[in-house]
Amino acid sequence: MEFDYDLFVIGGGSGGVRAARVAAGEAGAKVALAEEDRYGGTCVIRGCVPKKLMVFASEYRDMPASARAYGWDIQDGSFDWDTFRARLHAELDRLEGVYRNLLAGSGVETFDARATVKDAHTVTLSTGEEKTAKHILIATGGRPHWPDMPNAHLGMVSDDIFHLEKLPKRILIVGGGYIACEFAGILHGLGCEVTQFYRGAQILRGFDDEARGLIADAMKERGIDLHTGTTIVEMHCVGTAEADAMGQAPVEEVQHGQPGYEEIGKGPVRVKATNGTIRDFDAVFFATGRTPNTEGLGLEELGVELGRNGAVQVDEYSQTKVPSIYAIGDVTDRVNLTPVAIREGMAFVNTVFHGNPTPVDHDLIPSAVFTQPEMGTVGLTEEQAAEQEEIEVYCTSFRPMQSAFAEQPDRVLMKLIVSKASRKVLGCHIVAPGAGEMIQLAGIAVKMGATKEDFDRTVAVHPTMSEEIVTMRNPTRSR
Ligand code: NDP
Repeated sequence: MEFDYDLFVIGGGSGGVRAARVAAGEAGAKVALAEEDRYGGTCVIRGCVPKKLMVFASEYRDMPASARAYGWDIQDGSFDWDTFRARLHAELDRLEGVYRNLLAGSGVETFDARATVKDAHTVTLSTGEEKTAKHILIATGGRPHWPDMPNAHLGMVSDDIFHLEKLPKRILIVGGGYIACEFAGILHGLGCEVTQFYRGAQILRGFDDEARGLIADAMKERGIDLHTGTTIVEMHCVGTAEADAMGQAPVEEVQHGQPGYEEIGKGPVRVKATNGTIRDFDAVFFATGRTPNTEGLGLEELGVELGRNGAVQVDEYSQTKVPSIYAIGDVTDRVNLTPVAIREGMAFVNTVFHGNPTPVDHDLIPSAVFTQPEMGTVGLTEEQAAEQEEIEVYCTSFRPMQSAFAEQPDRVLMKLIVSKASRKVLGCHIVAPGAGEMIQLAGIAVKMGATKEDFDRTVAVHPTMSEEIVTMRNPTRSR
């Protein structure tokens, strides 16, 4: 049978774009890609990239104080959201253009349209056109998950943050994962009064206990009003009879001169929490996880299996139960990180277009959480490793030179989890400024199977924070 294309990719995010352009450019396949929104997807348009730029923006808040400690005559300044937001969106426009050019340059035909799957080899575009392809790749990503609670619509999600007309003065962030914790630091740094509710006992579930404890302490120390074991009981728009019936929230003083609620489009929200407090917030931000984008794609009807949360079920080659249909990236809800989606895209092309079946290696993926302080991590947590085998833990926490000199309280953590039997470093956890940069390099050693003795044989780079990773001689504890 003749097809219009060798490959039709649905979704122009990091994974879809990479697979499309490598299949077209390197494998010489005839490829088309449909994107209903903006090219670049979550990472570029409403995720990693704008988030990281906001992290940079927020970190300038503390710099004048540090600079003064180092002898600079420098005053605190104020942050102008309008200026930053305009520059941010100009940069995102530029990056979207880069993505479009990459596709065009590789000979990929693009459709600015929503695509759904009609049968194993046909997609239907929202323009009404139908296209056939030998292979279909689902790379539609995910979207923020709204909690199922009355009046949740009064809140907002991460997609909305980058478009706010004004920053809220008082914001409540709900959740304790990556997005909640990163935005708590960002918005605090940009001058918002941040309250965070997390339903569990400690934020950043799944990460090393000691590391997340240090981050939680540092967040509170910086002024983030973090409440664990806390959720919303009830929320209503201030000024409504329902809000009045909840009782009065204490009058809070305007401390940062930030504009109030009316200016961001939704009215202030009165929130009753499980900890008994009733408080008004200018915005409530739900960072309560993400859902794969499979709704209405037509996949289940064809026999493609979806998981409990709608994630496309795939094998190690990213192939679904329908042999011509593959899926990569967040829509499969395996490891929801941009570089992983890119890897999955490349492995797909190797498997399908180069005749080289390539399973995706999801083991020992280094990653960073851009909290303040930042965390870099690879491998097993102390808790996971101790369940598996006997381990030694090497750990040190200290005030680094730069902040100690400026008499700032920030501490860093360097931690290695070592197998007693094989001596391999099973996990490395770093909480420190630049931890994301450090863990990329430590990740190579851990991925190569380096032992504690390999780390010890490596000469320290002095004076740095990360030299501690190779100078911890005695285990802090064994388990
Ligand atoms: P996460 O799954 O990391 O966190 C979701 C949080 O919301 C958890 O704390 C969860 O609690 C809580 N939660 C879920 N449902 C409810 C509810 N109904 N009421 C109250 N709390 C709730 O999701 P994120 O949205 O933070 O991030 C999504 C993914 O995006 C991440 O898993 C990560 O893969 C990726 N990401 C990566 C980043 C990076 O690499 N730096 C940055 C941002 C995102 P509980 O723990 O109890 O389940």
